[in-house]
Amino acid sequence: MNWALHTAGAICDDASIEIREDPHTMRSAMRPLMKRFLLLALMACAVTGAVRAANVGDVPIISKLDVAGLKEGRHHFYLNAGRGATGLPNLVPVIVMKGAGEGKQLLLTAAVHGDELNGIRVIHRLMDELDASKLTGTIVAVPGVNQAGMEVHSRYFGLRGGDPNRAFPGSEKRGEAEARFAYHLWHNLVLPGTDLAVDLHTQTTGTSYPLFVFADFRNATARDMAYSLHPDMIKNDPGEEGTLETSLIKKGIPAVTFEIGGPKEFEARMIDRALAGLENFLNSQGFLSDGARPAREQPIVGTNFTNVYADEGGLAVIEVGLKDHVKKGTRIATLYDPFGQPLRHYYAPVSGAVVAIATDPVRDAGSMLVRILH
Ligand SMILES: [Zn+2]
Repeated sequence: MNWALHTAGAICDDASIEIREDPHTMRSAMRPLMKRFLLLALMACAVTGAVRAANVGDVPIISKLDVAGLKEGRHHFYLNAGRGATGLPNLVPVIVMKGAGEGKQLLLTAAVHGDELNGIRVIHRLMDELDASKLTGTIVAVPGVNQAGMEVHSRYFGLRGGDPNRAFPGSEKRGEAEARFAYHLWHNLVLPGTDLAVDLHTQTTGTSYPLFVFADFRNATARDMAYSLHPDMIKNDPGEEGTLETSLIKKGIPAVTFEIGGPKEFEARMIDRALAGLENFLNSQGFLSDGARPAREQPIVGTNFTNVYADEGGLAVIEVGLKDHVKKGTRIATLYDPFGQPLRHYYAPVSGAVVAIATDPVRDAGSMLVRILH
């Protein structure tokens, strides 16, 4: 028998706490005793305002986010998003900033890909800088969605897992581990209350983006969100199946993917710029009331990517920079053999602007050298 103490949400740190019996280990004679103990614990927590058994340190573990009962201010939780391969729970850190004013609920996620870290620092700093008394609405921020990937410094869900950002909205009973994980997030964190979402990424390991937004302009709010973030470049496209952004757009919830430079580091300048962009976005969407600012420079907007790949392995020298405008036929990269002899020069197959480059010169056959937005 499973039973949940949902009322604990209202009583203990505003978090709902689920306590499950294991029928294989709990003898029936123990059940009434256990229930009495839990009832006493619940009564005690009503007095003390804390549940020690369901915390990690001072942070409560929740199975579903419900911001309705939260007081104004900053709250920390771990969302229990199913069990990992060792049987331990996948705990996802969640920061809720509940504003003084009633308003929209923004979901801000970072590191859905475990090697893409700048967004984590953006969230940390944004949460430190925000004053809840001046905030209208609520921000639900996840500074590190894919903890399993982060632990092994990988884009994917753990060492052997697949791509979490192709797994949304997830599956409860079918699919790989990342699909089950995505299901927990989708139903217990994303859908409850989200009105808008910005998913923070970077380019993947060995490559870099400028400040860059993926947005589906068919959704007018998503289009406005993209511009308000003040990126260098925007790709207007219908999205990609299984991404958090596209899954939200399909539900009618405006969302964009915000790419903040390169992976596996905290790039100070990119973090500063992304933070300024997010603050402008918060002003333009009414979360803050300082007023939105126009961009200093209009972004480069395109609808297509053309990737140039290394057709064999080698050491790459990239001969263009991010945001450079290139004409079709411009030389953009040279691949060298171990002795420094050129294997091949590469030329832009289309005219456009450079939106991504390889930063790791060691290039496998088939890996990206340059990506052009046009
Ligand atoms: Zn990513």
